[in-house]
Amino acid sequence: ARAQIGVTGLAVMGRNLARNFARHGYTVAVHNRSYGKTQSLIEEAGDEGDFVPSESMADFVASLERPRKVVIMVKAGAATDAVIDELLPLLEDGDIVVDAGNAHFPDTIRREEALRERGLHFVGTGVSGGEEGALLGPSIMPGGTRESYESLGPILEAISAKVDGTPCCTYVGPGGAGHFVKMVHNGIEYADMQLIAEAYDLLKRGLGATAAEIGQIFAEWNTGDLESFLIEITADVLQHVDAETGSAFVDIVLDQAEQKGTGRWTVQNGLDLGVPITGIAEATFARALSGGVPQREAARGTLPAHATDLQVTDRAAFIEDVRQALYASKVVAYSQGFDQIAAASAEHGWDVDRGAMARIWRGGCIIRARFLNRITEAYERDQQLPLLLADEYFTDAVGNGLPAWRRVVAQAAAAGIPAPAFSSSLAYYDGVRADRLPAALIQAQRDFFGAHTYRRTDREGTFHTLWSGDRTEQEA
Ligand code: NDP
Repeated sequence: ARAQIGVTGLAVMGRNLARNFARHGYTVAVHNRSYGKTQSLIEEAGDEGDFVPSESMADFVASLERPRKVVIMVKAGAATDAVIDELLPLLEDGDIVVDAGNAHFPDTIRREEALRERGLHFVGTGVSGGEEGALLGPSIMPGGTRESYESLGPILEAISAKVDGTPCCTYVGPGGAGHFVKMVHNGIEYADMQLIAEAYDLLKRGLGATAAEIGQIFAEWNTGDLESFLIEITADVLQHVDAETGSAFVDIVLDQAEQKGTGRWTVQNGLDLGVPITGIAEATFARALSGGVPQREAARGTLPAHATDLQVTDRAAFIEDVRQALYASKVVAYSQGFDQIAAASAEHGWDVDRGAMARIWRGGCIIRARFLNRITEAYERDQQLPLLLADEYFTDAVGNGLPAWRRVVAQAAAAGIPAPAFSSSLAYYDGVRADRLPAALIQAQRDFFGAHTYRRTDREGTFHTLWSGDRTEQEA
């Protein structure tokens, strides 16, 4: 036994992770259900480092130093359970099983409990950055026991992306914490992408600009506060020309956005926890709307618009308004996502450090962005910060953009341009900062039809009014 770490599941992600370990000087045991992928890895990348290939799972496990560290990188779901079942009889006390696939966090909680009972460590790990990230340095979000992180952590940190010399990998928390945080990361990614798409649509319709021209605007934005991987690739995609037709590439892509399900998981969990993650929810529903072909066909050309065309007189001012609206809405989406992490952390006792999560998302992952530094700083100023928007930096940053944000949302509504994430983020902002909400009326209605009781603004206690009787108030 001489391999320091093993990877089973050598499709694009596992293969690249294994190469990344090897390139960092680790001896890597490699295994795949069908041996062909293992052979092709050795043939094509075997000279990049020290690999120990095995055809059988038993040989693979036997080739690992103890305590063994086995990374599973297979199709999430039943395949992960199948691999775990195959591994279990071969492992011994203290061995560490790492699931680096995109597992749903309740599965991770279940697997961690089961393996803990067998004396094993189970580390559900979020890995972000796609194929290229896996090879060159992903953002890594490991959960599980702290004890397992002592030996596993340094290896994962070594292969992770680095920003200013700091690894984009840290211990997240016990149980399903790692996969939970990865799920919220993906949800935020949905919101970020939707916001960028809305900004693009407004610029396109407001300026009558070509995709390439809008691409240049995004490239310019990528030099400021908005600097991020997603803005950078947006600039690139918008400037790409379809080889076949010579049209802007984005103009020949069918306007139906698909999804693999992590956005949906995030929204479902937001509902379970009662955390308003409106940006992520709008983004997920916007994809669903785009794919709702029968509904769109029934509505297209049928539903009246009664809209007035966007009148842009000062082009530079309009572009700046959209930029500020994008930034402010993005801060709201992140603020909501971090609220969701805080709520889940409290519910499961994970004790997740939100500032550290923002730090490990600065590199390697899809939502890597300059402004994540600001989030880390905010949580360093106040570990218990109840609302990211209420941090002094973000209060100012969003406050300064508010007039622009309101103009953009109002213009979009008047022009009949859908901007669900921009507008719901603004509604959230105005809701959370309100002195008083019309929720008072809702609670009164609930008491009326269901005797659900209410509390009063002027004294303690819980009350019910006898609505169908003489309307006297009773202490409940
Ligand atoms: P796939 O999700 O396409 O899965 C293919 C791999 O799973 C193959 O190695 C396959 O083996 C193996 N597999 C499937 N079923 C079984 C089974 N029943 N028993 C054993 N092995 C099985 O591979 P990817 O590399 O695309 O993704 C791997 C994981 O990483 C997934 O969980 C995915 O969600 C996640 N992922 C993460 C990304 C990220 O950015 N973080 C990006 C892409 C994926 P065989 O060759 O024998 O068929």
